[in-house]
Amino acid sequence: MSHTTPKLNAFPVFVRVEGQAVAIVGGGEQALAKARLIGQSSAVLRIIAEHAEPDLSAFIAQTGANHVAAAYDASQLEGAVMAFAASGDGELDRRVATDARRLGIPVNAVDRPELCDFFTPALVNRAPVAIAIGTEGAGPVLAQMLRGRIDQMLSPSLGSLATLAASLRGAAEKLLPKGGARRRFWSDFFGGGPAHAVEAGQLSQAHDAAVDLLLSNTPVSGHIALVGAGPGAEDLLTLRAHRLLMEADVIVHDALVPEAVVAMGRRDAERLPVGKRKGCHTKSQAEINALLVELGREGKRVVRLKSGDPLVFGRAGEEMAALRDAGISYEVVPGVTAAFAAAADFELPLTLRGVSSSMVFTTGHDLKGNSLPDWAKLAISGATVAVYMGRSVAAEVAGRLIEAGLSPDTAVAVVENASLANRRRFHGTLADLPSLEARADLSGPVMTIIGDAVAGANFERSEPLTAHRHEGAALAATEGVQQ
Ligand code: SAH
Repeated sequence: MSHTTPKLNAFPVFVRVEGQAVAIVGGGEQALAKARLIGQSSAVLRIIAEHAEPDLSAFIAQTGANHVAAAYDASQLEGAVMAFAASGDGELDRRVATDARRLGIPVNAVDRPELCDFFTPALVNRAPVAIAIGTEGAGPVLAQMLRGRIDQMLSPSLGSLATLAASLRGAAEKLLPKGGARRRFWSDFFGGGPAHAVEAGQLSQAHDAAVDLLLSNTPVSGHIALVGAGPGAEDLLTLRAHRLLMEADVIVHDALVPEAVVAMGRRDAERLPVGKRKGCHTKSQAEINALLVELGREGKRVVRLKSGDPLVFGRAGEEMAALRDAGISYEVVPGVTAAFAAAADFELPLTLRGVSSSMVFTTGHDLKGNSLPDWAKLAISGATVAVYMGRSVAAEVAGRLIEAGLSPDTAVAVVENASLANRRRFHGTLADLPSLEARADLSGPVMTIIGDAVAGANFERSEPLTAHRHEGAALAATEGVQQ
């Protein structure tokens, strides 16, 4: 590296504390915070406090920590592997620090960096795996922020996986030659079948998969996660989706998934756009199915990223069938579907007491032909209707619903690019809806919500659809829609 990294003034290490005494002097909040932190280890806590406040007393009772209920004296520190001066009393803390140092015990004094031999980190605990974050005084807020981010990146089952790994270390060392083979085993272990099984809570399967891997040295089996990317805003991605993205070797994504979401994957992950947007070069569904099967056979960890929820107008059914037929393992991760994002953007209650108690997810594209689809009947009986891919069939949807008996005055809310900063909202009635088709300015995805519950939405930030009604009326007239 050409640049020089600044030197650390405090070097992180892991101290053996199993069964060892750790002394904490203090009876209040500061002592409790340190007790909670050290309580995440198997150290034996020795809390030295003449008067312990109720919360600390409760902690001591709950955890069985030792409580020395006497005025502080240096002899109480003896035998501890580390000591904390956490009394909240500056004079006493200084005494504790001096005594500890004289006894050769490393000491930490709360909020007195000049008295500290060591600092305590913010901790991400996946025992036996620990991630310690230190900032050398840049601030606990920063450390907690980083802790939160790292915590959400790591699977809650990481600890179990590491425990399983530790139990297999001896066998791996015996059976596999040092170097490439052993390294590959471990990377398959942490990224393949055993990891997926632990993730799914199947510990004995994980063990078996690991043993298979160890004995047969067969290539890793692939895994496909069908993941909902949400409506577009990056922070509407689920934590699970985020973690899988970070773990994926390959990300196969639709055109509607924004670059910012795809970019959350590892930098070295392969990214395969598969289109699915009008006018773009796209792969057919059969080609996508075949691609997923092929990647699975190659042993890849794949995230198949779909906008919104993968099971809502996402053709996930066909992909799952292909994977099942090919015997490739897969899972489904839900996402925030566009209808929910649209409702949120309008503060629109999708169910509304006394008005609407059911909801329909539909696409206008099943309205061709003479018979009304079932959902039209539901709409007439009061259901809230969310129309996906409905822009180009807006007149057809409105016309058929009105024909079937839904009032032309029924409220309608439309949002382009729901959840994104560049979203645009429109409101009106069913009679206004056909105008959507004529609007060439709507280039993003559009969600339409129809129903009496829509009248409960907030229209303060939306434009009336009627601004374009003349175009809609002209269009509707040519299609024979009654207005
Ligand atoms: N699986 C997706 C839907 C895919 S179909 C989901 O659950 O949301 C694509 C349609 O979804 C678009 O035509 C549009 O109607 C809707 N859509 C997706 N993202 C949208 C967004 N950000 N704003 C409005 N509509 C959206």
